[in-house]
Amino acid sequence: MTYEATYCPRCGIELDTRHVDGRDRKYCEGCDRVEWRNPVPGAGVAVVDPDRGVLLAQRAIEPGVGEWVVPGGYMEVEETPAVAGTRELEEETGVRVDPDAVELLGTFTATPFDGKHVVSVGYAVHARHATGTPHAGHEVQAVGWFTPEEFAASDHVFHDPHDERFERAWTHVTGE
Ligand SMILES: [Zn+2]
Repeated sequence: MTYEATYCPRCGIELDTRHVDGRDRKYCEGCDRVEWRNPVPGAGVAVVDPDRGVLLAQRAIEPGVGEWVVPGGYMEVEETPAVAGTRELEEETGVRVDPDAVELLGTFTATPFDGKHVVSVGYAVHARHATGTPHAGHEVQAVGWFTPEEFAASDHVFHDPHDERFERAWTHVTGE
């Protein structure tokens, strides 16, 4: 669970609270188990073309409608982060990248909604490894290539913490 549970997701009874491992935890007396609360893992892939910039997507859904992001989303069960990131990239932009081609940038944390905590694994890949013509896909209203100078000169806004992901991806691939 990422939000604090009120009822046990297994047996359905109301949860109690117990102090376990230094924190108050939700606890099911019926199942005799802690209902752990954890961040949600996600992944994203920044495609970088040194001549055109970083491929970004403009969000069409809350939170942050109209704000720009590095394509990405939540991991499905049994996906690796690289598979999740490249799947989300294709869903949102139509661009395909082999999961084995992406390079790890680092991890990013965010709180997109009150009480929801996300840990996202950030990847970058040179555009030479990408195929397909970018177009706005699932949950996206526009896509575009931006260098740091172009984005700064525009009236666009990043969805936090994507400004950091964008800068790190650009530097990772171009060395600038
Ligand atoms: Zn239970």
